[in-house]
Amino acid sequence: MRSTKIICTLGPATDSPEILREMILAGTNIFRLNMSHGTHEWVRAIVKKIRKAASDLDAVVAILLDTQGPAIRTGDLANKLNLKPGDIFEFTVRGARSEEQFSTDVNYDGLVDDISVGDVVLVDNGVMHMKVLHKNSNRIRCEVLTAGTLGSRRHINLPGVKVNLPPLTEKDLADIEVGVEVGVDFVALSFCREAADIIELKRLLRERGSQARTVAKIEDQHAVKFVNDIIRASDAVMIARGDLGIECAMEELPIIQRRIIKKCIQIGRPVIVATHMLESMIENPLPTRAEITDVANAVYEQADAIMLSGETTVGKYPVQCVKILDRVARRIARSGGAGYAKDAIVNTTRMKTMRSAVTLANSFSNSKIIVFTRHGYMADHASHLRPDSAPIFAFSPSAEVVRRLALSWNVHPILMSFGIDPEHTIADAEVELTRRGLAVRGDQLIILSDVMVGTERFDSIQLRQVI
Ligand code: PGA
Ligand code: MN
Repeated sequence: MRSTKIICTLGPATDSPEILREMILAGTNIFRLNMSHGTHEWVRAIVKKIRKAASDLDAVVAILLDTQGPAIRTGDLANKLNLKPGDIFEFTVRGARSEEQFSTDVNYDGLVDDISVGDVVLVDNGVMHMKVLHKNSNRIRCEVLTAGTLGSRRHINLPGVKVNLPPLTEKDLADIEVGVEVGVDFVALSFCREAADIIELKRLLRERGSQARTVAKIEDQHAVKFVNDIIRASDAVMIARGDLGIECAMEELPIIQRRIIKKCIQIGRPVIVATHMLESMIENPLPTRAEITDVANAVYEQADAIMLSGETTVGKYPVQCVKILDRVARRIARSGGAGYAKDAIVNTTRMKTMRSAVTLANSFSNSKIIVFTRHGYMADHASHLRPDSAPIFAFSPSAEVVRRLALSWNVHPILMSFGIDPEHTIADAEVELTRRGLAVRGDQLIILSDVMVGTERFDSIQLRQVI
C-alpha cells in the first residue's frame, strides 16, 4: 500500500499502449494530459488507450485534463532555434511578421504593453533570458542574453504582472469541451488567479453535465495572495512549482509549498506537488540525491500526490521514474509524516464520526479503515485526517467516484455494487479484500457503514476482525 499517489503527464515518450501498461503496472494513479501541447485528436485517442489499459489490468486510473490557462506562449516553429548571446530576437503579435532570422509570434497581444524597454523576458521556464531593446505596437526586439534552444509553444513569464487574458481562454473552452466529451475525471485550471476563476470552471463543467473535479494550479504571485480563497473554492490544488519558482522569489518556494499543503490538509482538499521532482531523469537513469530528498519531503508533508511532467512526456526513462517515486514514497511514509492533520477542521457530524474512526484505527497496529461511499465524501474525510498507518479501502458503486478517489491520500478505491442490506455489503467487501490479498486473518477492520434498525438507517462504526 502506497499512500502518496503518482500523477504522470503523457507525451511522445509514453503514449503507446505498451508503455501505458507499464506505467500503470509501475504504479501510476492518474495520467495528466497537458493541453499546452496535446491536440483534440490526440486526447480522444489517448483516453481510449488509457481506459483500455486500465480495464485490461483491472486497475483504477484517473485522467486529468490540464488547461493552458492565461499563459503567454510563443508560437509554432518549423525548426528549433539555436540562440547565442548577442543574437537579435523578435517577438511579434497581431499577425505581424519579422524580418529577423530569429523570431516567433506570441499568443498574447498585451505582451507589448506589459513589457518595457530594458526588461528581461524570461522564456521557457526561465531558462532563456532576452533583454528588450525596442518595441512598437506589434513587435518586441530583444538581445539574447543566455544561450539556448527555442522550441515551439514555450512559456513566457512576466513575474508580478497580472496578464490581461481571461481565466479561461477560447482555447481552454474548446479543450474543456473535448475533456467533457471523453469523460475526464479532473480538469486543472492553469494560472488560476482568484477563487472566481475556479468557480467559473466548476459552473462550466456542471453546465455541460460533467462531474469532473477541479484542480486549481497555484503558479503566480496573484494566486499566492488569494491562495486560501482559491483552496476553499476548488476541489483540489496543484503547487505548480515550475512557474511558481519563476513568478515568485525562488527562496519563497519551499515556504509557499509548505503553507499550501498545511492549508489544504487543514480544510480538506487534495494537494499535488508538481514539477522537477525527478527532472534529471529526463536524461539519466537515476535521480540526483537532491531530487530524492525533494520527493521525500513532499511525502513527509503528506501531500496527496506527486507529479511527473517532462520526465514522462519526453524523458528517456519514464517507467523507471514511476518506479523510483513508488519506492521512495513507500519507504518515507513508513518513517512517519509531518502530522499537519492535527489542525484539520472537523465541523460536521460525519467528519466527527470519521475522526472517531481514525482515532480508533490509530490505536491498533494492524487496522484497516473500510468506508462505503456513494459520492466519495466519507473516503475523503478519512483521507484528510491522515490516519497513522491504516489504509482506507473505499467501496463505491460508482466508477466515476472510484476514479476520482485515485487522487486522495491513502485511499484505495474499489468498485462494488451495494446490496439493500448493509450487512451483506460489508460481507461482500470482506470477501473482496481477502480475495485480493489486501486483508489477512487477524487484521482489525474499522468499518463505517449504515446500519438498519427497523426501517431506519444510522451511521455506525464497527470493529471486526478478519477471520
Ligand atoms: P505546467 O504547470 O507544466 O502546465 O507549466 C506546472 C508548473 O508550472 O509547475
Ligand atoms: Mn505551469
